[in-house]
Amino acid sequence: MIDSFKHKGLRKQLIDLLRHKGIRDERVLQAMESLPRHYFFDSSFHSFAYDDKPFPIGAGQTISQPYTVAFQTELLDVNKGDKILEIGTGSGYQACILAQMGARVYSIERIKSLYLKAKAFVPTVGCTHVKCFYGDGYKGLPAYAPFSKILITAAAPYIPDALIQQLTVGGILVVPLGSADVQVMTRVTKTQEGAYRTEDHGYFRFVPLLENKEDDHGNH
Ligand code: SAH
Repeated sequence: MIDSFKHKGLRKQLIDLLRHKGIRDERVLQAMESLPRHYFFDSSFHSFAYDDKPFPIGAGQTISQPYTVAFQTELLDVNKGDKILEIGTGSGYQACILAQMGARVYSIERIKSLYLKAKAFVPTVGCTHVKCFYGDGYKGLPAYAPFSKILITAAAPYIPDALIQQLTVGGILVVPLGSADVQVMTRVTKTQEGAYRTEDHGYFRFVPLLENKEDDHGNH
């Protein structure tokens, strides 16, 4: 993979745009400037990688819009050493941004083809602190809990209780909460065992968080 001057230049323009749209966290902007987003695209689509738009990644899913990645990451207040659970690996881009910021990332994907692709691909772009899992994000990863941060990158109809349980006290969970049509970006802070407070951060549109892994079909 090549990170040409052209791609570096386009990335710099994208970062300027994100700043202009209100992203302030320099840790986020720096990670997004240093990690080439076009690596996460098939080579025939490289020219689309620095538009501030979502893009199809196969299996009916999308890599989130750069502004959305920046916004969610900013809300998560990522510090070096954070142990972060991501729900919805997709292309692996968001997971790698978190790893680039010094976090240890555990990421779950429910579609097997996307999981296999991300698991093989992520180490090739130097994201060594990302562990990929095939599973249902509604259940989280109890064996690896607790997490200091949890990021849900698909639209959730409610906050899954299992995920709140897997968050440390003082930890933050960011989730687009709502119906299939529109969601409210919600930041949840766990205040003590069994209690949390929430703040709303505007409207977004994500692909849905679906129950179960794609190949779980009822009782057999
Ligand atoms: N973070 C991704 C974008 C994710 S799009 C990136 O940076 O590219 C949302 C992803 O969530 C899709 O890949 C979708 O298959 C996945 N998803 C939906 N429901 C899920 C669930 N219950 N558990 C895990 N992943 C889920």
